[in-house]
Amino acid sequence: MGMRPYSPGKPIDEVKRELGLSDVIKLASNENPIGPSPKAVEAIKQAASGINIYPDAAAHDLREAIAKKHGVSPDQVVVGNGSDELIHYLGLVLLEGDETELVMGDPSFVRYIASAQLSDARLTKVPLDNTWTHDIPAMIGACTDKTRLIYLANPNNPTGTVVGKTGVEQLIDDTPEDALLVLDEAYYEFGTEHPDFPDSVELLKQGKPICILRTLSKAYGLAGIRVGYGIAPVEVIDAINRIREPFNVNVLAQAAAIAALDDQEHLDHTVRLNREGITRVEEKCRAMGLKTVQSYANFICIDCNRPGEEVFNELVKRGVIVRSGHVLGMPTHIRVTIGTENEMTQFLNAFETVMAVTA
Ligand SMILES: *Cc1c(COP(=O)(O)O)cnc(C)c1O
Repeated sequence: MGMRPYSPGKPIDEVKRELGLSDVIKLASNENPIGPSPKAVEAIKQAASGINIYPDAAAHDLREAIAKKHGVSPDQVVVGNGSDELIHYLGLVLLEGDETELVMGDPSFVRYIASAQLSDARLTKVPLDNTWTHDIPAMIGACTDKTRLIYLANPNNPTGTVVGKTGVEQLIDDTPEDALLVLDEAYYEFGTEHPDFPDSVELLKQGKPICILRTLSKAYGLAGIRVGYGIAPVEVIDAINRIREPFNVNVLAQAAAIAALDDQEHLDHTVRLNREGITRVEEKCRAMGLKTVQSYANFICIDCNRPGEEVFNELVKRGVIVRSGHVLGMPTHIRVTIGTENEMTQFLNAFETVMAVTA
C-alpha cells in the first residue's frame, strides 16, 4: 500500500472525450512517431498463425540476433517483456531487505524506485548536478557496503542528459565489489549522437562487471509489443534466468524484434527526424528566452519559469499532451517527446500561445 501505481501519460481518447476535441496529439511517452519498422509488422503477420504454440522460452533466435549484433555470446543476453521487466528481476535477484541498497540519480527513471520498494531495500537518490546530469562523484560517494545495485540511465529519463566515457569509467572503477552497475541505455540509439558517448558493450567485453539494458520500445518503435534486453556477465544472466517467467517474451514480440533489429533504414530515419525535432524546439525556446535541457534522447525538457503543471494543463486544452515536470521531479519544466514534423509544428504553436497567455 505504500507504493504509488505507475502514472502513464494521459490517454488521447480521454482528452478527446473530456474536452470535446477531435485533433489531439500525444508527445508524452517517448514512443516512435513514425511507427514501427514495416519489416517488424510483416514478421508479426507471418508469426500470427503460430500463436497457438508457446513461445521459445529461451528466445534462442532473438538472443542469437542480439548477440551477433553486439559481438557477445548468447549466454550474455537475456530478453524481457520490455526492459522494465528486467529492472524488476534485477531487484529480485540483488535486493532483499534493508541490509541492501539501490543507488540512483534524482530525478531518474521511476521504475528503479519501485524495484527497491518491492524488495524492502534502502533507496538512495543522488541529486543530479546543475545541468541535470548524473553527478558521478556524488553517486560514488553515496555508495555503502550495503549497495547492491547502482542505476545509471544514460541518456537519462526524464532529462535526456548523457554521462560521457570518462564519467562512466570512473563509476565502473569505483563500484563497490558487492554491487552491480546497471547502465540503462533505453535511449542508446539517440545517445550515440553525443560526441563522447561510452561504448558500454566494449567495456563489458573488457571484463567490466556491468549490466547493460536496451529496449525495442523507443527508437525501434515496438513499445506496444514489449521487448527489452540485457547484456551482462553470464553469472548475472544465469541468476535472472532462474527467476524469469519462462514465456516472458511472446511469439509475436520475438519475431518483431528480430526483424526490427535488422532494419537500419527505419532506425536512421527515426534518429534523423528526432534530431531535427530537438533542434526546432531548442531554436524556438531560445527565441522565446526559455532554457532547455541538453538532450540526447527522443524528448526534451523545457524550463517554463512557472509551474510545469500549469503549462501542461493549458496545452491539454489545446489538444497537445506532454508530461508535466511536476510528477518528474522538475516542477517548472515540461517534458516533450519529439513527434513528426507536423506534430512539432502543432506543439510549438500551442506552446507559444500558452506561454503568451499565462505570462
Ligand atoms: C522507457 C524506458 C525503459 C523501459 O522501456 P520498456 O518499454 O520496458 O523496454 C527503461 N528505462 C528507461 C530509462 C526508459 O525511459
